[in-house]
Amino acid sequence: METRILGISEKDIQVAADILKTGGLVGFPTETVYGLGANAMDSEAVGKVYAAKGRPSDNPMIVHIAGEKEMERLTDVITPDMKRLMEAFWPGPLTMVVPARPEVPRVTTGGLDTVAVRMPDSSTALELIREAGCPLAGPSANLSGHPSPTTAAHVYDDLHGRIDAIIQGEPCKVGIESTVIDMTSDKPMILRPGIITPEELSTALGKDVGIDPAILKKPEIVKGDGLLETGEDFKPKSPGMKYKHYAPKAEMIIFKGDPEKVRLAIAEEKLLRTGYGQKVGIIIYDNDNPKEAAHRFFAQLRAFDKSGVDVIMAAALEEDGVGLAVMNRMFKSAGYNIREVK
Ligand code: AMP
Ligand code: MG
Repeated sequence: METRILGISEKDIQVAADILKTGGLVGFPTETVYGLGANAMDSEAVGKVYAAKGRPSDNPMIVHIAGEKEMERLTDVITPDMKRLMEAFWPGPLTMVVPARPEVPRVTTGGLDTVAVRMPDSSTALELIREAGCPLAGPSANLSGHPSPTTAAHVYDDLHGRIDAIIQGEPCKVGIESTVIDMTSDKPMILRPGIITPEELSTALGKDVGIDPAILKKPEIVKGDGLLETGEDFKPKSPGMKYKHYAPKAEMIIFKGDPEKVRLAIAEEKLLRTGYGQKVGIIIYDNDNPKEAAHRFFAQLRAFDKSGVDVIMAAALEEDGVGLAVMNRMFKSAGYNIREVK
């Protein structure tokens, strides 16, 4: 299949919308990461998304909408809490899991009776959804297991020849995927951390939100097929969280501990590795600016892979606020290969 590269002109968005209307797949920019769009109400089109990504079929899609009205096509239940979050954070990097209407194909929801919905904060994405006239299933536009794509070039590297078109739009502002919050019970529960933090969500709702304990828990074993061993205490509520994810080709080690000691430990390990003739990539972010870390992380993993590094060494950030979201990705990228620095 020839993958067309489109721009963001009205004409090109129209071409992309026509592809979506006829059941095709289009990579498109959002503020979080690039998405792989398909008509969310068309089972066959959504089936092609799983195939193009090599994504396990029980890992549901996030459905992207352009207006609150479209929410009514997807769910019968819009609670006051949901309204509060829509008002506070949409369009933006927040996904809500809500009860799904019967019309929403179960291929889209990974067989669940709930559906994950988001309104992206990207004028290109919103125009595309409006022109296509349907909600768009939009998982990250990468091969399953690879780092998420934050530029159109990343999408091309992973999916050219497998999808109909890529819209070459802006690089992603946020750089990591949306915060996912389950709104199907009285106490909202964060299933995946993102740049919208638990504190911000609690403030907007005027009540506590839970955090799925599986978010930072180290699974026991990563099996060859990428499925994480689900031990007694590792039962994530979000199906996607049970798969190995975001992995660079290089070996990756996370150094955790006092920042000064971590820098020294990384420098020592670098000397050792380069002595063996290995090429080393180093990631050290400013703990005070985790948003910048989120913005750069996936692109940096891909850049290291391109330049053929053998090992990536990363300094851990503190696991709170936006740092929690970055560390959730970093742990998975490294396959939980963590070195505690004393
Ligand atoms: P991605 O599309 O790659 O950003 O991944 C979407 C994430 O949302 C995955 O972790 C999914 O498991 C999660 N998700 C999507 N739909 C649901 C749902 N109905 N219930 C729980 N988690 C969901
Ligand atoms: Mg993904």
